Amino acid sequence: MESFDVVVLGAGPAGSVLARLLAEKKHRVLLVEKDAYAGKTTACGGLFDKPYFDKYVDDPSVMEQHITRNVFRMPWGEVTYTCDQVTVKRRVFDRYLAERAADCGAVLRTRTKAVDWQVRGPGDATVTLHDLETKKKYDVRTKIIAFADGPHTLAKKNPLFDYTPNKPYWAYAYAYEVEGVATDPHEMIIWLDKKLFPWGYGWVFPDSDVSNIGVGTIQAEMDKGIKVKDKLFAFMETYPGSAPLLKNRAVTDKKGGFIPMWLIDYYSDTSQVVLGDAAGMVSPLFGAGIDYAIDAAEAAARTLDEALQSGRFDATFLAAYDQRLKQGFLKDLRKQMLVAKIIIKSLLFGGQWPVKILAVIAFGGKYTRWNKIKILLFPLLGRPRVKEEDGALLSHK
Ligand SMILES: Cc1cc2nc3c(=O)[nH]c(=O)nc-3n(C[C@H](O)[C@H](O)[C@H](O)COP(=O)(O)OP(=O)(O)OC[C@H]3O[C@@H](n4cnc5c(N)ncnc54)[C@H](O)[C@@H]3O)c2cc1C
Repeated sequence: MESFDVVVLGAGPAGSVLARLLAEKKHRVLLVEKDAYAGKTTACGGLFDKPYFDKYVDDPSVMEQHITRNVFRMPWGEVTYTCDQVTVKRRVFDRYLAERAADCGAVLRTRTKAVDWQVRGPGDATVTLHDLETKKKYDVRTKIIAFADGPHTLAKKNPLFDYTPNKPYWAYAYAYEVEGVATDPHEMIIWLDKKLFPWGYGWVFPDSDVSNIGVGTIQAEMDKGIKVKDKLFAFMETYPGSAPLLKNRAVTDKKGGFIPMWLIDYYSDTSQVVLGDAAGMVSPLFGAGIDYAIDAAEAAARTLDEALQSGRFDATFLAAYDQRLKQGFLKDLRKQMLVAKIIIKSLLFGGQWPVKILAVIAFGGKYTRWNKIKILLFPLLGRPRVKEEDGALLSHK
């Protein structure tokens, strides 16, 4: 039986960055990916912070656009932020990251699906792999299993990592590519409006040759009968904000996927760590998870390197990974979960309450106290006004 220090399941950003960092430290890493190449079937808007891109990508052609402005359009007007982000096509970006991990010494096995796993004790685990080409199953031995296999992770077999109770908070989103760049190439636009979804949004993110567009909402809304695909059709053809930009554009790619917008409670156990979407490390307000996946990969790499150096693979030792996460981005995600809970409760009151609460809490810095009151009571007191970067008040466009 082949033997590795770490077997990483899934070559998304979480898995590939972890595999690369461990391979750079000369550990024996197997990175398995079920698709023919990483990112082939991943549904995504492909927008994230540029510093993460700069840290892990040397080839500028992987970037589609440098995004310098975020625009959030709401029923009473828009809020804009300057930002430093990029758009990528996941089929290009993920493939690049996986191949860099292989260049650094990780063994990359595509068309290979992990189907089961066992941990017998600290440092003694096996993963059952299914070679999708030869249709043969085989086991590999490893000291640690890293679950980076996305929303429907095999980690769920361990009750500590079971995400089932969090499923009402998950979202489903469609990401399409349509021909041509429909907006300013350095600007991304998000529409928040109950006409699209009581809670959810539609987006247009520019790539170099196409626009990545999509809509998504939470499972709890879908359970009420909302059809996300119909909403996407409306977004492209009839919704007044987006239709003028998107109508009659040919669709060049169609994908859809779940966004697990709720953290699980633990992230490590004996010989196991969980990261990225597999652990619900996604913003519960906006559904973004690429940056968190990379942050988690860095935290996991540090802990696993220490574990491999010291020969300790027990739950107590690997809990250092949970600690690192808690000192890092988990604090912010937990705050966002609190806001998301308030927003989800506000769905009971109907109207634009979810968007209003999001605007007051997430975009609050852009409004004076009086204008926050105007948002909450909109349209009773007229349109709220936003603060400019220099503090001056501006009318919404
Ligand atoms: C429609 C949509 C739009 C989104 N837009 C954005 C956005 O614009 N910005 C942003 O930051 N986030 C966005 N997200 C979220 C983002 O895509 C995820 O948070 C991110 O991909 C998480 O990375 P990951 O590496 O944890 O998991 P994934 O990217 O899901 O990678 C998991 C990998 O594991 C592979 N895999 C799964 N099971 C197995 C198995 N059993 N064996 C082997 N391989 C397996 C999969 O094929 C995949 O390659 C979006 C999500 C959706 C659905």
